[in-house]
Amino acid sequence: MSSGILENNATGLEAASIGSLEDDPIKPMRAFDLKVSAVTQLSEHFRRITFTGTDLALFGSNAEGQTLDLRVKVMIPAPGHALPELSNIRGSLQDDWYQSWLAVDESVRGVMRTYTARALRPAVPAHGDQPAIAAEMDIDFVLHLHGGSGPAAEWAAAAIPGDSLMLVGPCARWGDCLGIEFAPGEAERLLLVGDETAVPAIAAILETLPAHVSGHAVLEVPTKGDFLAISSPANMEIRWLARDGMDHGVELSRQVRALIAPAACELGEEPEDVDVDATILWETPVAAAGHGLYAWIAGEAATIRELRRYLVRDVGMDRNAVAFMGYWRKGQALS
Ligand SMILES: Cc1cc2nc3c(=O)[nH]c(=O)nc-3n(C[C@H](O)[C@H](O)[C@H](O)COP(=O)(O)OP(=O)(O)OC[C@H]3O[C@@H](n4cnc5c(N)ncnc54)[C@H](O)[C@@H]3O)c2cc1C
Repeated sequence: MSSGILENNATGLEAASIGSLEDDPIKPMRAFDLKVSAVTQLSEHFRRITFTGTDLALFGSNAEGQTLDLRVKVMIPAPGHALPELSNIRGSLQDDWYQSWLAVDESVRGVMRTYTARALRPAVPAHGDQPAIAAEMDIDFVLHLHGGSGPAAEWAAAAIPGDSLMLVGPCARWGDCLGIEFAPGEAERLLLVGDETAVPAIAAILETLPAHVSGHAVLEVPTKGDFLAISSPANMEIRWLARDGMDHGVELSRQVRALIAPAACELGEEPEDVDVDATILWETPVAAAGHGLYAWIAGEAATIRELRRYLVRDVGMDRNAVAFMGYWRKGQALS
């Protein structure tokens, strides 16, 4: 255990807020010390937490200012313990921050979980009578509180305005924005498939699609009450599926099979088997040139593995045109 990290912690957050940007080395990722500014219960299982933070203006996005499926790491402190210090000055991460964090005893270091930046709104300066508005970020947390809860879902369920959260995400000063996987290239037809954990990413993607794109978004959520209002300038049909107590992924697989039929003549390539209990299923190619179909699929790893096999082997889709991401695994805690 690296006790130095914990000892520094009492002064760490204060130091983080007083360093100047000139002293703050430019790195791909940085730590953002955020405060909850609003909590909105979107439905029984979706809770939107809105954050502000002095350095949020430094949060990265793509060249168009979009976040799409951009992933962030949220750091939840262990009960009764402050988070180990991750930054040198302001939010600039220590070079070995992740190893240092891992070296801290599990019972006190807290947990790291992966979420999607559902929306990032830049600050608006004061204008006439209108007061300035601080930059804000929304994260939509799924509350999986029954039959397998976890520290991140529990943190979100209890969050109130004024609470703090440390988040690790891309730094705008770096240039390239790390953490965006949606890469459809020139594809004009899209298939977006996911369970509730992928709804924030799919919603953010749908909102930014150009009008000439068409296709389907298929979303499986716990109940009908979790169907959210999502708009898109593109010609995308959004199909919501309520699980209503059925096993995870059953409806999702059925609908994808109904939408995209297997190839009539030949089987496609057999994708290598992935042990979803030992490895993270993650295959995110940049779509090859062409205007065909691009698929983006994320959710519970076993369901995604099954869909990957169906689309690549049975339908014969080019695996370079499909992004598959295991966002979580039933029965396991993933960081
Ligand atoms: C790139 C990426 C983006 C993601 N974006 C989001 C997002 O925007 N919103 C979001 O809510 N999640 C998102 N997830 C999924 C999220 O990271 C996991 O659900 C995570 O396990 C939640 O952490 P936890 O501490 O609540 O539960 P954990 O401690 O990780 O898990 C505890 C138990 O709960 C089970 N579990 C975990 N998630 C669920 C679930 N959704 N339903 C039922 N059981 C579950 C686990 O299998 C385990 O048994 C994303 C994951 C990735 C990889």
